[in-house]
Amino acid sequence: MIKSGKNIDYAAKVLNDDGIVVIPTETVYGLAGNALKKNSVNKIYSIKKRPKHDPLICHTDSLAKIKKYVNDIPEEAYALADKFWPGPMTIIFEKKNIIPDLTTSNLNTVAFRIPNKTITLKLLENLNYPLAAPSANVFGYISPTKTEHVHKNFNKGIDYLLEGGNCKLGLESTIIGFKDNKIIVYRLGSLVLNDLKKIGKVEILNKNDNYPGSFKNHYSPRKKLYLGNIKNLCEIHKDKKIGILCYNKKYKEIKYENQIILSDKSSLEEASKNLYSALYKLDNMKNIDIIISSLLPNNHIGRTINDRLTKSAE
Ligand code: AMP
Ligand code: MG
Repeated sequence: MIKSGKNIDYAAKVLNDDGIVVIPTETVYGLAGNALKKNSVNKIYSIKKRPKHDPLICHTDSLAKIKKYVNDIPEEAYALADKFWPGPMTIIFEKKNIIPDLTTSNLNTVAFRIPNKTITLKLLENLNYPLAAPSANVFGYISPTKTEHVHKNFNKGIDYLLEGGNCKLGLESTIIGFKDNKIIVYRLGSLVLNDLKKIGKVEILNKNDNYPGSFKNHYSPRKKLYLGNIKNLCEIHKDKKIGILCYNKKYKEIKYENQIILSDKSSLEEASKNLYSALYKLDNMKNIDIIISSLLPNNHIGRTINDRLTKSAE
């Protein structure tokens, strides 16, 4: 069992000794270590079984601290930071040598975020280095939004779990960079495109662009997930024990206890907060073999939900 609690001083001590702490954020729980120390970063890769060519996001509590680790902060980044930090936005900068190549998978850029979670911001304030913190799940599996998910993923290797309740947003950060006076979106996330568009021209990276860490399948339950028209899928898979991830209502074709509703009031925000938790539940139900679902309305945060559902189903 992982040692856990709300002791920020203890978490800081563990991290100062190159240990690994699971931290809560408003997006998902992160598996954190000193981003400047190869020893800590190696532990993160090995605990997560993450390939070394998938770079890590660094977390800190102020733009002033970020300046110590990056060559240049573009004008647009100041405007975005002012509006959306602390929050679910990650910005890619040109890195200084003090950030080890291991943290960034040999890229000359580094990704930074200031998370919007009080207990974690307090911890970050007390540290004189940033924390590298990918999601606290085994590589490719569903990201954790509750401490119980973290326990399902790991039982050793982690020195402390800083408890912060359930993650308020429940989907990862939006990753952005800048090119030709445009905001380039590398990964859709909890910060929606309409918010970014208030600051500048936005371009979403093409699916086929070869971009570090863009794996086709990700966020996947162990059970096979099929996406499509739910009634058709029930018919196609009628010989299997089906579980349904429903948007706003259950379906009469399947036992009600094998279905989970994301938001009975059709709120995409509520659905995004519940998505990973519902996938964990369905994946752990003994009496179902496969999960079926359909895409949600493709607007606002629905676009990010659909991105994650599509990757879970690949
Ligand atoms: P996560 O697994 O949620 O921590 O997100 C990590 C993802 O951030 C990686 O898979 C990359 O897609 C992206 N990322 C991190 N660092 C960089 C970087 N320097 N350049 C481009 N993308 C990055
Ligand atoms: Mg992840």
